[in-house]
Amino acid sequence: MSKTEELINLAEEHILHTYNRFPVVFERGEGVRLYDASGKEYLDFCAGIAVNALGYGNEAYKEALKAQIDKLTHISNYFYNEPAIRAAETLTALCGLDRVFFTNSGAEAIEGAIKTARKYAFLKDHSTEHEIIAMEHSFHGRTMGALSITGTAAYREPFLPMIGNVRYAAFNDIDSVKALLNDRTCAIFMETIQGEGGIIPAQQEFLKEVRRLCDENDILLILDEIQCGMGRSGNMFAYEAYGIKPDVLTLAKGLGSGVPVGAFLMSERVAEGSLCAGDHGSTYGGNPFACTAVLAVIREMERLNITENVRERGAYLRRRLIELKEKHPVIRDIRGTGLIQGIELDSSVKASEVCGKCLENGLVVVSAAGNVVRLIPPLVISDEDVDEMAEKLGEVI
Ligand SMILES: *Cc1c(COP(=O)(O)O)cnc(C)c1O
Repeated sequence: MSKTEELINLAEEHILHTYNRFPVVFERGEGVRLYDASGKEYLDFCAGIAVNALGYGNEAYKEALKAQIDKLTHISNYFYNEPAIRAAETLTALCGLDRVFFTNSGAEAIEGAIKTARKYAFLKDHSTEHEIIAMEHSFHGRTMGALSITGTAAYREPFLPMIGNVRYAAFNDIDSVKALLNDRTCAIFMETIQGEGGIIPAQQEFLKEVRRLCDENDILLILDEIQCGMGRSGNMFAYEAYGIKPDVLTLAKGLGSGVPVGAFLMSERVAEGSLCAGDHGSTYGGNPFACTAVLAVIREMERLNITENVRERGAYLRRRLIELKEKHPVIRDIRGTGLIQGIELDSSVKASEVCGKCLENGLVVVSAAGNVVRLIPPLVISDEDVDEMAEKLGEVI
């Protein structure tokens, strides 16, 4: 039995079966390449689902983390720690919001945002009947609160009842948002670019109008940029392309580039009118190890001028994908911006099968809802990497 087979058998014996995994055991990474237990090399256009923004083996990132391990990995939130303070200062400046709470995952950032919205509305009228508007086909995570605002009924149904008072609007359909809006609405949640839902960007007019509705009615606009934020769209945050700002922002994935860390951020106005001491907490959230990763990621992104690389490589990626579409009628649509792009396939072929074949062909990609092959590579790729991806994907298609 090969090492790979042995490990997979062990996994199937002991790990809870919540994923249908591809039969590959990844062992190490270098740059934008991954290597499996048999030594086979892969080009990575998945990045651990939009996580490994800096790719693998970034020196400054590794050195910062190693040094922090030697000093202190964890300390309670009853005390201050410098990496959290520096990361908070840097991250708030970057996104133009004032206060941050660090979490350990995306779903936890969403939970915090939900609590922020409810508390904000509660302090205004002391009602406990507030409603949240979320979007159809959205994805916000697997914990009960995050699941409750996730717009795919199949993910929710076996776990009903959800948290109450959530309404679903059609994404990019302003009339459907207006139809749900009432004086109990406390927040509108959406991804600036829907990720799991099939790489669907919010339309300019839609997001601007939602912003206006929120301002007019003192409702919180909560943008989930867990997948599309941190440089991936070609701006540090995808909302920058719309000329608006959210009241609350959720981040994770690329934020730690591999160290599990998330965050929710808010304006001073929202902070003053919502969570206060005793309202929220996390044992691990914002520990010095995780926050060292955040700080190193932001510094490296700035040093590498990452948004410029994403815009340039993203434009080139788009050109190569459009070429593929012209050659292969099975490709119905190319969507996205920067280095979050999706290839929608027609019903004659399953995106998940294409991903499996790509893997055999040395290319790591994953699918998204709506029969979409999702391209979310490390943000440090080159045009040569894009060419290699297009060649490998073209062969499979
Ligand atoms: C991945 C994701 C989440 C959930 O993050 P986890 O770290 O898996 O809990 C939430 N929202 C969006 C948009 C995501 O892509």
